[in-house]
Amino acid sequence: MKKQILLVLMSFSILTACKNKTKENTVEVEDTVVSSKEVNVYTHRHYPSDQELFARFENETGITVNVVNASADELMQKMTQEGDQSPADVLITVDAGRLVRASDGNLLQSVSSEKLNNTIPAHLRDENGQWYGLTKRARVIAYAKDRVSKVELSSYENLANAKWKGKILVRSSENIYNQSLMASIIANNGEEVAQGWASKVLDNMARSPKGNDRDQVKAVVAGLGDVAIVNTYYIGKLLNSHNPAEVEAGEGVGIFFPNQDGRGTHINISGAGVAKYAPNRENAIAFIEFLASEEAQEVFAKTNYEYPVNPNVKPSKLLASWGSFKEDTLALSALGKNNKRAVMLFDTVGWK
Ligand code: FE
Repeated sequence: MKKQILLVLMSFSILTACKNKTKENTVEVEDTVVSSKEVNVYTHRHYPSDQELFARFENETGITVNVVNASADELMQKMTQEGDQSPADVLITVDAGRLVRASDGNLLQSVSSEKLNNTIPAHLRDENGQWYGLTKRARVIAYAKDRVSKVELSSYENLANAKWKGKILVRSSENIYNQSLMASIIANNGEEVAQGWASKVLDNMARSPKGNDRDQVKAVVAGLGDVAIVNTYYIGKLLNSHNPAEVEAGEGVGIFFPNQDGRGTHINISGAGVAKYAPNRENAIAFIEFLASEEAQEVFAKTNYEYPVNPNVKPSKLLASWGSFKEDTLALSALGKNNKRAVMLFDTVGWK
């Protein structure tokens, strides 16, 4: 009987995860001694590193990983609609702002894991165990190597200086990365200063915000502006692209870690939380613990150019070549808390 149940569960795989919740529930109720051998992962990330890690987890534990891939907003909406019938065990997304949104939306549950608490520094996880950072990225200044000297750069605040008039490239404020940067400026400097900063940076922009982070780097190299605000891993992606023009863009910029003389560079995470109604709660915790392990952190670091959150794991060669840096250790939950204010301030100053 047990075997049959497991076979049915496994054969339904992703479809089961998405649609066949009722069947699964019945199984659990009928036979409570069956320890389920699967974990349903709702993820916004779509990197090859993740697929490799999921496969390793399956091999090591015998727990099947069923993946539902969609945008963070779609996944959260899906979990909301599914309510207590949701098959989701784990939600993975990028940016602490979104993880806080999921937690505020009552989509996650608190877990307490000694392993996670010991491996992940406190500012990179929720104090109530609703979510845990798995990888880190820094929001840095990419500068035109041939036109800007490092000594001209110092902090995010310095980008408000009229010296950068017509020279700054940055994406839209609709993007969560900028909202989180702004949220960190609010947390560190207060709202008034943050608004003044946004308004001056807007004045200094080389063009009205458009495109993604990689487009800003390409625009710097094309001479449209001199400095771009971007996440570190995009530079790694450009440098390792199959497209020679992208490699050229990556090579054309230097990387500057802002605010080294003060609070440190703004960082963000991608992270995971256990879903509120996780049918396979224990597997979900084991899965997140695996992703935080040294073995998994090394894969993240090498394949997606992100910084490991596990302090025992060194960043990849490329990231190490950019030098070590001091990071802002502001609790990342503050990014979520200040998100609405950040969006409002952007609106007020007209940063599209
Ligand atoms: Fe990204």
